[in-house]
Amino acid sequence: MNMLSEGRPTKQEDNLIMPDSTEPKTFTGNRALMVDEPLIFEIGSPDRSGVDLPEAPEVESRLGGLDRKTPIAVPGISEAEMVRHYTRLSRQNYAIDVGLFPLGSCTMKHNPRLNEKMARLKGFADIHPLQPVESVQGALGVINELAVWLIKLTGMHGVAMTPKAGAHGELCGILCIRAALEARGDAREVILVPESAHGTNPATAAFAGYKVEDIPANSDGRVDLEALKKRLGPDVAGVMITNPNTCGLFEPDMKAISDAVHAAGGFVYCDGANFNAIVGKVRPGDLGVDAMHINLHKTFSTPHGGGGPGSGPVVLSEALSPYGPLPFTARDADGHFRLIEEETADEDHPDSFGRMSAFHGQMGMFTRALTYILSHGADGLKQVAEDAVLNANYILRSLEDILDAPFAKSGPCMHEALFSDKGFANGLTTLDLAKGMIDEGYHPMTMYFPLVVHGAMLVEPTETESKAAIDQFIGAFRSVAGRAKAGDELLKTAPHFAPRHRLDETQAARKPVLVWTEPEDFAEAAE
Ligand SMILES: *Cc1c(COP(=O)(O)O)cnc(C)c1O
Repeated sequence: MNMLSEGRPTKQEDNLIMPDSTEPKTFTGNRALMVDEPLIFEIGSPDRSGVDLPEAPEVESRLGGLDRKTPIAVPGISEAEMVRHYTRLSRQNYAIDVGLFPLGSCTMKHNPRLNEKMARLKGFADIHPLQPVESVQGALGVINELAVWLIKLTGMHGVAMTPKAGAHGELCGILCIRAALEARGDAREVILVPESAHGTNPATAAFAGYKVEDIPANSDGRVDLEALKKRLGPDVAGVMITNPNTCGLFEPDMKAISDAVHAAGGFVYCDGANFNAIVGKVRPGDLGVDAMHINLHKTFSTPHGGGGPGSGPVVLSEALSPYGPLPFTARDADGHFRLIEEETADEDHPDSFGRMSAFHGQMGMFTRALTYILSHGADGLKQVAEDAVLNANYILRSLEDILDAPFAKSGPCMHEALFSDKGFANGLTTLDLAKGMIDEGYHPMTMYFPLVVHGAMLVEPTETESKAAIDQFIGAFRSVAGRAKAGDELLKTAPHFAPRHRLDETQAARKPVLVWTEPEDFAEAAE
C-alpha cells in the first residue's frame, strides 16, 4: 500500500507556515525534516504485522461464549514503521535536553548523566521491594543516607521518604498534623492558605477534610503577618506557607509566623517546592516549620515532566515525627538496615498514621538525588541556590524595562522572576506571548500563576543554564514582549512554525476527544 497517497491523511492546510504565505506546498505535507506524523491507528492496517505468527490451531474455546466477536482494534504495522512513528513524535516534543525550560515553580534543571548512570547500576535497578532486607542492604543504605542528608539540609528531626511527589507529600504532612491533633483530642477544622499558593495546597487541605481559608497578602506580595495573627485561634489546625513564595519572594517573617501559629496551638506546613533557592543557605527547621515536602524532581535534579516520576519526601519536626507514615528504614548500631513496617511498628513507631504507598518510595529517584547531592557536597549545594537566584535576578533586571515586574521594587527576587501583562496592546494576552515563545524555540514560561498577578508570567531559569543561553532567552523574550506591547496581530495566531498551530483550547476543554474512533475503511478491511 502506498502510505503517502492512500493511508495517511495529508494536512497541507494545517502545515502552511503562515496561513497566507507563498510558501510552496509539499506533496506529503511534511516540511523537510519535520515530518507530519498521523496517529498510529491511521498508518496501521489490520493486514500487516511486525511479526509472523503461526496460524492458530482450531481448539474449542474455553471462554464459555465470551470470546471476542470483533477484531481487536490495534494498529498493524511493521517494526520499522513503529520505530519511526515514535521517533518522529519524540522529535516534535520539547524537552530539557533540547533547550531551556523556563517554567517557574517547576525547577526544570538539567538532569546530570551521572545520576542516570548510578540509577542504572544493576544493584539498584534490578531489585524488588519484596526482596528479603538482607539482600538489599545497599539500597536501604541509599534511602537512609539520602534521608540523613535531607534532615541535615533542612534542620528537621525526621523524614518520611515514601511520598511519591510534592502533592502526595503535602497530604502526608497534613495527615501528620491531623494525627498529632487527634492524639491530643483537639478537633480543629481550618487550614489557612495564602491566595498565591500552588493549587495543590488548598486541594490537599480540603482532601484531608479541612475547611480552607485565605491568608491575606500585603502589597509586597508577602504574607500579611498582622492579618494572619488576627485570624489564628482554637479552630485553626495549621497554615500552609510556601517559602520562598510563588511570587518569587522570601518570606522574612517566617519565624514570627511559626511562633504565632504555635502559640495558638496550630502547626506550620511549608511547601518546599522552592527549596532550590535556599538549599544550603537556610534551614526551614530554624524557621519553626513542622512539615515540609521536598520535590526531589525539582531541587535535586531528578527528571520530571509529563506527569512523572516524582518523589516528595517530607521532613518533619520533633512534634510530628512520631506520626509519620510506614514503612521506613532504620539503621541499627552495628550498621545493619531494617525496615519498620506494621508488624514491627508497635514497638518502634506506634503512633504512625499508616501507609502512603505500598513500598519504600521512588528508588530510582532516591539514587539520582543522592548522586546529585554527593557530587555537589554541602558547599556545592549552597552554590546551586546562589546561582539559581543570580540567574533569576539577571532575567528580572534585563526585562523590567519592557515588562511590568510587580514586585521588583521590593528588592531582588529569589530563583524566579515574575512579570504581568500590564502594558500589552489591546487584545493581546499572556497566552499570545507564550505562543510567540514557541516560535522562538522555547517552551513557554509558567503563565497565569500565581493568581494574585494579572496575566502572570513566572520565569525560572535554574542554575544549570549558561549566561549565553540566558542571554538568548532574554533576547527572544524581549522581542516577543515588544510585539505584544506594539499590538502585532500575528502574535494572535502564533505559533506559526510549530507542527500544530493555535489550538481551540475552549473546544478541547469542553468537548475533549479522548478516544480514537475507527474509520470505516479500517472496519471494512478487518472483516
Ligand atoms: C510543583 C509544586 C507543587 C506540587 O508538586 P508535585 O511534585 O508536582 O506534586 C506544590 N507546590 C509548588 C509551589 C510547586 O511548585
